Formats: sequence, structure tokens, C-alpha cells
Amino acid sequence: MLNSMLHNAQVLIIDDEKGIREGLKRILTKEGLTVDLAPNGEEGLKFGLLKEYDCYFIDLKMPDIDGIDVLKSIKKKFPEAVCIIMTAFGSISSAVEAIKIGAYSYITKPFLPEDILVLANQALEHRWYVLEARRLKEKQHENLLEIAYERTRLKSILNSINDGIIILNKDLELVLYNRKFVQLLNLNKPLMIGESVVGLLPENLENQLKQIILGGDEYIAFSEEIQTDSRDARIIMANSSPIFDEKNRLLGAVSVLRDITEMKKVEQVKNQFVNMVAHELKAPVAAIVGYLDMIIQRTLGEDLEAYDKFLKRSYKRAEALKNLINDLLNLSRMDAGTIKREIVEIDLKGLILEMAEFFEIEAREKNITISHQCPDKVILRADEEEIKRVISNLLSNAIKYNKENGTVHIHVSKEKENVEIKVSDNGIGMTESELEGLFQEFYRVKNKMTREIPGTGLGLSIVKRIVESYNGTISVASEFGKGTTFTILLPLGK
Ligand code: ADP
Repeated sequence: MLNSMLHNAQVLIIDDEKGIREGLKRILTKEGLTVDLAPNGEEGLKFGLLKEYDCYFIDLKMPDIDGIDVLKSIKKKFPEAVCIIMTAFGSISSAVEAIKIGAYSYITKPFLPEDILVLANQALEHRWYVLEARRLKEKQHENLLEIAYERTRLKSILNSINDGIIILNKDLELVLYNRKFVQLLNLNKPLMIGESVVGLLPENLENQLKQIILGGDEYIAFSEEIQTDSRDARIIMANSSPIFDEKNRLLGAVSVLRDITEMKKVEQVKNQFVNMVAHELKAPVAAIVGYLDMIIQRTLGEDLEAYDKFLKRSYKRAEALKNLINDLLNLSRMDAGTIKREIVEIDLKGLILEMAEFFEIEAREKNITISHQCPDKVILRADEEEIKRVISNLLSNAIKYNKENGTVHIHVSKEKENVEIKVSDNGIGMTESELEGLFQEFYRVKNKMTREIPGTGLGLSIVKRIVESYNGTISVASEFGKGTTFTILLPLGK
């Protein structure tokens, strides 16, 4: 019985002797093999090179092509092909030559069916090993490819994470890290996988990792801010924790670093803002409390009229407080983006006229004249409330920071896709240094002339935010004692 490891083996018999061909075929087919026949060398090569048979039987002496040449051609194309040479008694030397070329074995004619079966069995067993070796080699190749692929994939994932990551083993040796880690810490020595990181990392990060490792199987984690040594000192949040295996035994430690410099800055600005707000609120409230206390204590006697002045002052301060709170609310709504915009087509000429009329009474108190110039049909697509807030802030300032008998002029012109709105006054103006920080929250120029003028210092910062939210710009030109011009450029909007 033939080796059963190789199912459906395919055999090619190349022999010019019909008797041998047919006889062999009969023996092998009986054993379940598939047998093809070739009556000469040429046919043998035609079939034999078309695909790799599991076993070739090749007659040495054939009239057309010599068996040795057939063997050579087959071996050339299929180096692992299993070929058995059939030779007549007396031509053993040729058979030996054939073995040298790579034939698996030879058999001399005439042969007994049992001999053929023994040889075929050996040959097919050999073939099975050849195929198995080939399969294992391919598998190994595949595995290697897979491992390489997994490694690259892990590396790309790690490198695309925007946090710095480092993984160490129990001996504080580097197991893994990503690009961001190196970037964040700006390390001056390169990190090497498998090498100790002691002395390479910022001190507090190294201490975190050491303590985690020293803790052994105990869970110790850290969340701590660390400062980098780099010139643009960054603030980094380092979260470190131990790595355990499934039996809760310590394997190493992992640290995730995040750059929180910007977050810290925002936090700082917020704190400053809250401080400023508290400061701005404190003065008017303290004043009002003071006046009310005077009245309650009847400091000036029982005659209520004596308190009139203080009541009026309280009222004024309360009014200023209300304005400040309104401005603050506007600012915070703008920041939170909760203001709902209703974009409409605004006829600027109409709007300017309306605004100028609105401020007429206030202007008249100082005998200030408001003039305006705006071409017809300048249509701006924007939220009307917001544009009104911008113009009224500028107009109100131009009147507030003006002199008796002063003038205010609004000038609108269309510039291609934009509209330019200029609000000029010939009021108190500002010095160059007073202009610095003009658009910041709570900024107010403090001098003799402005001391008595109420305001929150929020108007211009609101104006700037609105203008910029429409991709517009605002600029200012001012001369101390002569006047000021604010220029706004806004896209008309499609
Ligand atoms: P507020 O008027 O409430 O103080 P603003 O943000 O509107 O706040 O203005 C900031 C500061 O800029 C004012 O306090 C004032 O000193 C100065 N300022 C604004 N507009 C003018 C102007 N047209 N002329 C002179 N100074 C001005």
C-alpha cells in the first residue's frame, strides 16, 4: 500500500516502450494515483513542464530526446521535482549521472510490481516532505510578514497619538515610546529600546516611574504637572501608572504626557478676568453701600432732602453697575457662542440715520453736532442688533470723549466687497501710549479729562469681537487733544 500522506498524487510516465508505460500505469492507478503518459521525450517535456507532477518516471534511452536531457529540463523548471530514472541493465553509469543531476532514484528494467511500489512509496514520502517543508517555509514567511506588519501598525498608532507615551519594564528599561514623547520633553539624548532611562528623563517623571516600580504589586499612580527644561518651558501633565499581568504581578510602568501649556494660559486669563470683574464690581457696590449706610444711620440728620445728593450718586453708580453687567453678559454670550444671529440685509444709510438721531439728545447736552455721509444702497448682510451695537458704541464714545461744541462725523464708503465705516470726532483724543491695549477688556484711559466720564472699559472689546466675527477689521487713529477716528472694514456678505 502506498503512503497515504499524499492524497491524489499525480504521476507522469515518460517512456517510449508502450508495454512499460501501460504496465506502470496499471500498477500505480490501482494504488489510487492519477497517471499521465508520454510516449517520447518531446511529449514528456510538453506535459512535464506544464505543471509540477508529484513524481516523474523517466526512461533514460528514448529515440528523440535523451532521458538525461528531459530530467535536466524538468529539474531546471522544478528544482524540487521528484524524478525516478528507468534504465536498462548495463547502463548504471548513466543512472549515476542522473542522480548527480538531481534524480531522486533509479530502477533497472525489467522490474517487478513490488519493486515499483516500494520505490514509488519512498518517492512520494519524499515528495510529502518536500511539500511540507515548502508549506512551512511559506507559513513562516507569512508569520514574519504578519509580525512585521503588526509592529509597523503599533508604531504608526503610537506615533499618531497626540500624547507622549512611554512604557518601561521592571528594571526601568525602555520598552516602547512614541515620537510625541521625545518632542514634548525635548530630550537631548536619544532613547534606546532596551536601555535604562535613569538619568534621561525629567527628574519628577523619573521619580514617578521609580516609585511605581518600587511599589511592586501595589497599585500606585501619579498625576502631576512637570515643567520641561526647553527654552519655551512647557507645562506637561504626566499620568503614570503600573502595568500588571493577568495575575496582578507588576510588569512595568506606563506614562502618558499631555501638553497643557495652552490650557494653563487660558486658565490664567480666565482668573485674571474674574479678578478684574470682581475689582470693577467692588468699587460701585462699596460706594452704594457707603451712601446707603449714611442714610440708614441718618448721618446728616432726619431731613431726607439732605441725602438727595447721595441718593443720586447711588443711582448713578447702580446704573453704571447695570451697564457693566450687561456688557459682561454680552461678552460671555459671545464667548459661549450662544448668541443667535439673524442675518438680514441692512440698508446702512437708514441705519446710520437712525443711530445719529438716537444720539442726538446726548450730543445736544454738549452742543455736539453729528453729521453723516453714506451712499445709497449699501446693503450689508449681518445681524442688525450686532451692527447697531458696534455703531452705537463708537458713536457714544465719540460723544462721551468729546469737548463742548465738538463734532462727530460718520462716513460710509463701499470698497469692492467691503464696506468702510469711519467714526471721527474732534474730542479729547489719546496719546500713543494711551492707545496701547485699547481693545482689551476693562481698558480705560485714566487722565484728568476721562476721570468724570462713566464707562465700563468693555465697549471697544465687544466692538472688536463683533467686527472680527464677521471677518472684518477695526483700527484707530488718534491725536491727543485733537480727536479720534475709528475705522471699520466689514465684508458686505453675499
Ligand atoms: P468705556 O467707554 O466704557 O470706558 P470703551 O471700551 O468703549 O469703554 O473704551 C475704552 C477707553 O478708550 C475709554 O475709556 C476711553 O478712554 C478710550 N476711548 C474710546 N473711544 C474714544 C474716543 N472716541 N476718544 C477718546 N478716547 C476714547
